[in-house]
Amino acid sequence: MNPPRIGACPTCRKSSSLEAGNPWRPFCSERCKLIDLGAWASGRYSIPVVESDEAEPRPSQDDQ
Ligand SMILES: [Zn+2]
Repeated sequence: MNPPRIGACPTCRKSSSLEAGNPWRPFCSERCKLIDLGAWASGRYSIPVVESDEAEPRPSQDDQ
């Protein structure tokens, strides 16, 4: 018996199953897969999904 293969979901960084039983692998869910595909389609893939309450500084944003 092999241990289950677990990877980090590319979208939400949570652990996701890489086994064949997970139809959305390497994503953890259909939602994350669709989010990733949508990001590619809109050309915003470079923006990481960060689940955090802290807002990071955005030096490239407009200074008012
Ligand atoms: Zn996910």
